Amino acid sequence: MPESHKAENARRKKQNIAAGIGDESGRIVRVKAEAKMGRCIECQAELKITKTNTELKLHSENKHGKTIDICFPGAEAISAEMKNAVAGGKKGNDAKASSGKGGKKASKENLDDLLMAGMAGGPGAKKKKGKK
Ligand SMILES: [Zn+2]
Repeated sequence: MPESHKAENARRKKQNIAAGIGDESGRIVRVKAEAKMGRCIECQAELKITKTNTELKLHSENKHGKTIDICFPGAEAISAEMKNAVAGGKKGNDAKASSGKGGKKASKENLDDLLMAGMAGGPGAKKKKGKK
């Protein structure tokens, strides 16, 4: 007698639990990619970097009267990367190929990435500044 779908699911969940994967009921949840955060160099506020960077732009302009480049260096590059990723596989390859041509720009972006990584790397090390 063939196994019913219900029984099959239950069995799979049991296996998952036994293997230590999935949630408490053995269901496998797809983990979302962690959101990339940008930290404002003016006030240390952390905002989520998105494809449009709307929040970051508003923050930079309204709070500091500056551009996103000044408050969140590197954020635009990450945003552009997200846009490329969404644009799809084939176009993504094209973008990669053409970025090799503009070597100067690419290296600047790498530098920004490094800066961002350095800023994100310190786990709130300078957060205590001025605050009790
Ligand atoms: Zn700020």
